[in-house]
Amino acid sequence: MASIDLHFHSCASDGALAPAEVIRRAHEREATLVALTDHDCLAGLDEARSTAAALGLPFLNGVEASVSWGSKAQTVHIVGLGFDAGNAALRAGLDSVRRGRIDRAHEMAAQLARVGIDGAFEGAMAFCANPDQISRTHFARFLVESGRVKDVRTVFRKYLTPGKPGYVPHHWAALADAVGWIVGAGGVAVIAHPGRYDMGRTLTERLINEFKDAGGEAIEVASGSHSLDDMHKYALIAQRFELWSSAGSDFHAPGEGCRDVGRTDDLPPICRPVWERLADHILV
Ligand code: AMP
Ligand code: MN
Ligand code: MN
Ligand code: MN
Repeated sequence: MASIDLHFHSCASDGALAPAEVIRRAHEREATLVALTDHDCLAGLDEARSTAAALGLPFLNGVEASVSWGSKAQTVHIVGLGFDAGNAALRAGLDSVRRGRIDRAHEMAAQLARVGIDGAFEGAMAFCANPDQISRTHFARFLVESGRVKDVRTVFRKYLTPGKPGYVPHHWAALADAVGWIVGAGGVAVIAHPGRYDMGRTLTERLINEFKDAGGEAIEVASGSHSLDDMHKYALIAQRFELWSSAGSDFHAPGEGCRDVGRTDDLPPICRPVWERLADHILV
């Protein structure tokens, strides 16, 4: 297990812990370098950065941008690392991505009401610190805490994925825009958890080529969403496409998902770690 974690969430988006709490938790688990990467949002970074500084824990600014990509408008996530968090174009771009989450949440609640689940909008909001960050994860927590479904994973399978009764398609950022905002703010763009996308070889290669054309430089090889087979597969892809490799737990909440913050697999030796690329961007 390595102790570098460049992908996890706080309650500024769909994580359960405050930014300071998640950074303290990473430090307790002996992380040596961290980046907080909330969805489409920089609101947790100041608190996370100052907590990391007080602990002497090296820190990178981070974000996870939601993208709709390709002819089927598939959702793809792009992590940004080591950017200037004050960059106006990045901030405006992320604001535009967040817009629409509340309307989507009302539609999700209306669909859930049709299958007998009432009060889901208010229920999900009760788990959300920041109304414009309302996400499927908050609906999932509401359905679990109200005793309707046994765990978050099962909620997604039964209600919140394409074709299921609470799923509402959403239009996120364009790939070139999201990568452009991150790179324009001096950061490095990373394809998040590639093993999670339902894409064959041709589409995966097309995604990587478009990502590189837009200025993207890295891909997550070690991820809380990856099996060991995925990790080795994407290590080879990183090598073939000359991409830097990243590592992240994708931690959201204690007991939810399979990885704790600060717990990532060691990158295979063929990888070039993205933290070498980012050495000059680390804030302590
Ligand atoms: P949203 O941005 O509102 O579409 O919500 C996406 C979030 O839902 C992701 O960032 C994950 O935290 C969570 N998520 C997506 N798919 C699953 C799944 N199958 N099981 C658990 N959580 C998931
Ligand atoms: Mn999430
Ligand atoms: Mn993601
Ligand atoms: Mn994530």
